[in-house]
Amino acid sequence: VKSAAARPELFDTAAIQQMDTAHYMHPFTDTKALGEQGARVMVRGEGIYVWDSQGKKVLDGMSGLWCVNVGYGRTSISEAVYRQMETLPFYNSFFNTTNLPAVQLATKLCEISPPQFKHVFFTGSGSEGNDTNLRMVRRYWDLLGYKERHTIISRHNAYHGSTVAGASLGGMSGMHEQGGLPIPGIVHIGQPNYLESGRGMTEQEFGIKAASWLEEKILEVGPEKVAAFIGEPVQGAGGVIIPPASYWPEIQRICDKYGVLLIADEVICGFGRLGKWFASELFGIKPDLITFAKGVTSGYVPLGGVLVGDRVADVLIEKGGDFNHGFTYSGHPVACAAALENIRIIEEEKLVERVANDTGPYLKQRFATLADHPLVGFADSCGFVAGLNLVRSKAAVVHDNVEFDPALAVGMICRGYMFNNGMIMRAVGDRMIIAPPLVMTRAQIDEMVALIRHCLDLTYADVKERGWL
Ligand code: PMP
Repeated sequence: VKSAAARPELFDTAAIQQMDTAHYMHPFTDTKALGEQGARVMVRGEGIYVWDSQGKKVLDGMSGLWCVNVGYGRTSISEAVYRQMETLPFYNSFFNTTNLPAVQLATKLCEISPPQFKHVFFTGSGSEGNDTNLRMVRRYWDLLGYKERHTIISRHNAYHGSTVAGASLGGMSGMHEQGGLPIPGIVHIGQPNYLESGRGMTEQEFGIKAASWLEEKILEVGPEKVAAFIGEPVQGAGGVIIPPASYWPEIQRICDKYGVLLIADEVICGFGRLGKWFASELFGIKPDLITFAKGVTSGYVPLGGVLVGDRVADVLIEKGGDFNHGFTYSGHPVACAAALENIRIIEEEKLVERVANDTGPYLKQRFATLADHPLVGFADSCGFVAGLNLVRSKAAVVHDNVEFDPALAVGMICRGYMFNNGMIMRAVGDRMIIAPPLVMTRAQIDEMVALIRHCLDLTYADVKERGWL
């Protein structure tokens, strides 16, 4: 199978694209526009690279979709999956039953996560994990007799998934516009985006300021009505927004002051991406719930869930009764088997330590060199996520009218050059972001940064020729 995928002559790309257009509605996609262009057909992966149906090799700077932490082509994961499928491909965890991989994985997750976590609720995705959070925190407050305490505070430009609760918790205006979201009981505050809102302040001052918006919102809603605050330690889909160091400790202080539960959505940040098993450890916070997905299986099989901290678990268990929530695939044995092998690889290859002490700092240093490019206003990174802002002029970093007109979609032009030159880099407006596989070596970091620079040069020449500089 693998060797056939390496033979582009076996693929009729035009025919595949035609079927794709005819029948496959892609997520977050303008179906008509894609039909006119034709999708790129990915056929195989190895390490940090993927190949398309025409044999073109691409360096996957996005780990698929922030998930392939251990890289592509891990035979031991496919073997673990195969063994589990042969033994017990499925059984549910409803009605007083359980299965071995789910038990083992729950135990393992509690071992590698911060000490307040001794319980895990499994779902099939990150979105379902956040739906679980919403229902679980409301159930928690109900059990304690605070039936009014149902409001969850989130942030603008957050991403928490695409289900109704996930998209409502998220702060993407484009998502809220479609389908009458957010649902009641979810409110949003500003994001800790220094470049956007930090004018006239130091980063640390701005971190405190951005956290104070939480306290303002709690007082506005009424502390007796606020159930929880949810945030991504580093916002991913919003454009790799790395908050000032002062932000999260202040958020924790405010949550503690009002007894508000703290939910860390670590769907991207977990499993070594920021150089810790969970980014909450990096930012010095003690969340009550952690959403996970993606890196738990490196995306090989869908799996997500919620780490349930003692504060919540004790109430749910002691005050008890059924929690009327769960999915067919909660604790799916095959997904859990994949996760166990994935975590074993992360441990064996010391990927968390490597990102913390070796490749993460190296990426930071190499990625920062891109800031001297005439098109780049700002480049920063945290562990194995990084981003740079494309600007019209390098006059000043913090919002001095250096941006391109968003309508020009310079980010998309840049993404096109990347894509066509063997590099996957995502565009969020004019911020170009990466989240490479954690197995990336120093030599591959050099290769990637050189590739990015080359594509920035091509974008620069193009934009200049169009007269936009
Ligand atoms: N939370 C965060 C922080 C995410 O980045 C994502 C996915 N990008 C989700 C939740 C949703 O996960 P899923 O797509 O698995 O539902």
